[in-house]
Amino acid sequence: MNLLQNYINGHFVRGAREFADVNPADGSLIAEVSEASREQMDEAVAAARNALRGEWGRMAVPARAALLHKIADGIEARFQDFLHAEVADTGKPVALASRIDVPRGAANFRAFADVIKTAGLESFRTETADGVIALNYAVRKPLGVVGIITPWNLPLLLLTWKVAPALACGNCVIVKPSEETPATATLLAEVMQAAGVPAGVFNVVHGFGPNSAGEFLAAHPGVDAITFTGESRTGAAIMHAVAPTVKPVSFELGGKNAAIVFADCDFDQTLNGVADAVFLNTGQVCLCAERLYVERKLMDRFVTALKQKAESLRVGWPMDQATTTGPLISQGHRDKVLSYYQLAREEGATIVTGGGIPKFNDGRDRGFYVEPTIFTGLPESARCVKEEIFGPVCHIAPFDTEEEAIAKANDTQYGLAGSVWTTNLKRGHRVAEKLRVGITWVNCWFLRDLRTPFGGMGLSGIGREGGVHSLNFYSELNNICVKLSD
Ligand code: NAD
Repeated sequence: MNLLQNYINGHFVRGAREFADVNPADGSLIAEVSEASREQMDEAVAAARNALRGEWGRMAVPARAALLHKIADGIEARFQDFLHAEVADTGKPVALASRIDVPRGAANFRAFADVIKTAGLESFRTETADGVIALNYAVRKPLGVVGIITPWNLPLLLLTWKVAPALACGNCVIVKPSEETPATATLLAEVMQAAGVPAGVFNVVHGFGPNSAGEFLAAHPGVDAITFTGESRTGAAIMHAVAPTVKPVSFELGGKNAAIVFADCDFDQTLNGVADAVFLNTGQVCLCAERLYVERKLMDRFVTALKQKAESLRVGWPMDQATTTGPLISQGHRDKVLSYYQLAREEGATIVTGGGIPKFNDGRDRGFYVEPTIFTGLPESARCVKEEIFGPVCHIAPFDTEEEAIAKANDTQYGLAGSVWTTNLKRGHRVAEKLRVGITWVNCWFLRDLRTPFGGMGLSGIGREGGVHSLNFYSELNNICVKLSD
């Protein structure tokens, strides 16, 4: 049996004990994973602090940028290894992982290699009332040791989204991938080693959250900052853990995102875009739309068409190129999603399609599949309309006016993303600006430019990452004031 080890100070090491890495498509065992002990976390932190004082701490920006490109080369050279590992761990369709997850894993390193070389900083020529002249300018310094804690839904993509800017800024990192999807982080350690990243700069510790590697990392006094992607509740627990050592945090958390569909939309483009927004990655993307608001005169046509789309999804084996929809990540997560399917019934929903478990009569019946599901008829106060389900599911409600659609979309404690579908561009801009979210798409969804700010409001997070926004989190600015006059 394959054993996924921790990577500490440039070495692969066994942990205190092992846990299982399970394939969600059929429940089979993929590998054993070494859970890092508290002492190993101390070793990782010590190694990272030591690396800051060594060759890595002295490396100039162009050399760091070149190393990031070399890491991207390494991922691309092992594309198939990353692809198979990611598909086995997550159950996501191979067509999706080869189009998005693995390419983005490499692209994140290239993007931040470029950003760190080109990003400028403001400077001020200062003149005081009594004639003193000075030049103020800022320089970037690494934060030090950054703890990176990531979820299972886009494991390589979200991990590298944080590792790349952290390294670009000259930090050392300790990453704690999700216990559900440990494989690609381990492969990334092999790529780092082969690329010549100095020992201690990149460390991987495997384990769980509470009383395990996640909590050890967040609470560690030798860690200077925590960047986390995951559930809002976990964000709150991490905030608690970092409080005594006053670390900066960057949180990308959950969502209950809305899509607003106006009757004047380009119907086919909207249908395809919204179907993606609901069902991509079996609905396990933080940006997915679980609440659809459709202008009343389009409602029946739209519901019928989305039902057809949902029923034409190919729910299947992840490695089948034709599969569009894989299983959910785990038995536990499937239980959660099914409990919302049941709750929707109890709350009085009309089930337009789905609502259960598909039957395959093969190994997939031991996997964690659910049917793509559409509800209508729930009040806005229903828990299924308020809480993040994180599955291939949406609720569709009609609206009559623009103001009503905006008010309903904003009636949530989350504030991550939204989308607006209309051919009236003035309205598109107007509505987009009024949505209380960090990211709004107009006539598209999940179209990303890595230089743009990414993050959420309310329960959806703290801070923004992307482009210079990432640099601003992963570095400290030191202002230097030089007196120029005598
Ligand atoms: P999760 O919060 O359960 O776990 C995420 C990570 O946190 C895992 O590595 C886990 O081991 C660790 N963890 C759990 N408890 C911890 C603790 N007490 N201390 C330290 N670490 C702890 O999230 P998940 O189920 O893996 O991922 C799904 C969630 O992530 C959804 O809510 C989704 O919306 C969110 N998400 C958000 C974004 C975004 O960019 N906003 C992106 C992807 C996923």
